Amino acid sequence: MKTIGLIGGMSWESTASYYKALNLGIKSTLGGLHSAKICLYSVDFHEIEQLQHDGLWDETAQILTCAAQAVEAGGADFILICTNTMHKVVPQIEPHISKPILHIADATAEALIADGITKVGLLGTRFTMEQSFYKQRLTDKFGIDVVVPNEAQRTIVHEVIYQELCKGKISQSSRNHYLKVIEDLVKQGAEAVILGCTEIALLVEPQHIKVKLYDTTQIHANAAVKLALQQD
Ligand code: GLU
Repeated sequence: MKTIGLIGGMSWESTASYYKALNLGIKSTLGGLHSAKICLYSVDFHEIEQLQHDGLWDETAQILTCAAQAVEAGGADFILICTNTMHKVVPQIEPHISKPILHIADATAEALIADGITKVGLLGTRFTMEQSFYKQRLTDKFGIDVVVPNEAQRTIVHEVIYQELCKGKISQSSRNHYLKVIEDLVKQGAEAVILGCTEIALLVEPQHIKVKLYDTTQIHANAAVKLALQQD
């Protein structure tokens, strides 16, 4: 079994979901007392969040590069960055490490393609919903059309992530907002919706709405389990 390198803490609420999903994935495949080999570097999200909102992405890339080098030194065979947003700086990290990063958007696109989805709604932080690093990758590399909420809805979705979900707060009124946003994405032709922020599945679950949800945390973890068990 390969060792999975995790760069977590963004936020730790969703890193806990990754830890559980990876171990459950290994256990369900190998059985018995098997568990995932993991090397985790968990950052202080306060520092990252401030840099993000000040637009200091190069500084965030430096922090994540040090984290990636640390998990490599700790024996990681490949690396997961446990947040969609911070995949923005993957191109700045990759030249400084020798192990591959398993990209969350690629894992998600492969799950969508396997289900025949060609037009999808995207929920995430403002950075993920508005900038090109994620949406463009889905479109250019995989031919998937992406629709995002309108400006007012994006503000609510973003605020709920940072003010509530990353602090462990789950609120029914925020869930209702999200469900309304998802319904509007479906009206715009989305055949499914990507929960493109690793905490959203803590708020919105499949039983809350009919449209198919693609939980990027679970998808990313599933892809990691598969890769960890793959024979070279
Ligand atoms: N975990 C979130 C994501 O998947 C947001 C936190 C962050 O900004 O990294 O995008």
